[in-house]
Amino acid sequence: MASKLHLITYGCQMNEYDSERVAGLLRERQYELTDDAREADVILVNTCAIREKAEEKVYSKLGELKQLKSARPELVIGVMGCMAQLQQGEVRRRAPSVDLVFGSPAIARVGELVERVRRERRPVLDTAEAPLVKLTAKPASADRLKAFVTVMEGCEKHCTFCVVPRTRGRERSHAPEAIVAEVEGLVAEGCREVTLLGQTVNAYGRDLTPPTDLAELFQRVNDVEGLARIRFTTSNPYNLTPRLIRAIRDVPKVCEYLHLPLQSGSDRVLERMNRGYTRARYLELIEELQATVPDLALSTDLIVGFPGETEEDFAQTVEMVETVGYDNVFAFRYSRRPGTPAAEMDDQVPEEVKADRNRRILETAVRVGAARSQRLEGRRVPVLVDGVSRKNAGEATGRTRCNRVVNFDPGGRDLMGRVVPVRIVRALPHSLRGELEA
Ligand code: SAM
Repeated sequence: MASKLHLITYGCQMNEYDSERVAGLLRERQYELTDDAREADVILVNTCAIREKAEEKVYSKLGELKQLKSARPELVIGVMGCMAQLQQGEVRRRAPSVDLVFGSPAIARVGELVERVRRERRPVLDTAEAPLVKLTAKPASADRLKAFVTVMEGCEKHCTFCVVPRTRGRERSHAPEAIVAEVEGLVAEGCREVTLLGQTVNAYGRDLTPPTDLAELFQRVNDVEGLARIRFTTSNPYNLTPRLIRAIRDVPKVCEYLHLPLQSGSDRVLERMNRGYTRARYLELIEELQATVPDLALSTDLIVGFPGETEEDFAQTVEMVETVGYDNVFAFRYSRRPGTPAAEMDDQVPEEVKADRNRRILETAVRVGAARSQRLEGRRVPVLVDGVSRKNAGEATGRTRCNRVVNFDPGGRDLMGRVVPVRIVRALPHSLRGELEA
């Protein structure tokens, strides 16, 4: 009989991607996925270490799982991903019911590791470096319209607030052939849209021999027949080249949507963050982007309450949200990460100030985002249909190229996976209302 695997995933899209590969690799060893932790033989928790809150969630989940383990001692509990990589000892100390701890380099060996724990009945820890392997194993439930494809691992930016360089290692790109083969495989199973993933996805290919870049990769993925759309994330302003900006405009399947983390609108804070650009440079890039790519939608990440951030610094960040006119903003309260330079800075901002700034920046972001949505009213846009509306099962739902959700009446037709023209009739706070055009 097949063993049962329950997977719990926290964190970014890269973690979602990794979890899918783990499910696929274990499926090859006769592990079936289950949604019910109580019937699982193996539970794997894929973790995130980016902010303290993400770690707390994991420890509280591990606390819950301890009950299951007491009732069924043969249950294997594993912790994988960034937290595992960073705090292997701490995880075992705080959650002794955990049998297996492994970082992202060990994912390719997950089958072997799980079997070893089950066979030897003793804890296994694997957070060593390992060569980069492109994993393409997918779980059985892989047939869907949209998929993530990791194109590179690691980050070498060394922003002073961030743990990623220590959890995911150096920048290493996958070969374009392997990526294209993976996309072809996904498309053969019905996938219509891929999101190319990397911590600094626009640094893709610099480390390969011969070197290549994301613009070139766009072109190659664009040539995959049957694929409708290409998205990509996350880009760093430091590596944004004119060539890539032109590729966003010129490669037909690449959507006009760019996630470009700003983090702060203040030069003083940007420098202390070690971001490698100034406010003026960022705005120069925005100008170039907007002049080159008509209708480009922009989103960003912001950190509020970075050590030493004054009210004046914060006001400059708010001003940038207005000036750039983001479609979407992800704002985070600065979280002090052990081992990072910013954690040692002595002018830490009180939590209540961070909370207040977070609330204020979101107010601005919602207003600016709503205005961006409204500009779509009356326009006819291509929508990739990916499901039925959450509120009304008779309605179809899909996304614009600028990544807005659109709900509309499909007139009784099954449009799943099709790109159809829709007239936007109203912009609502979280979605658009549309009418299907002939
Ligand atoms: N690699 C991307 C970059 O540097 O632009 C971002 C990847 S990170 C997983 C996503 C976001 O988390 C970052 O852009 C940043 O806004 C936020 N973040 C990272 N470290 C943080 C920290 N210590 N506290 C709060 N937010 C943090």
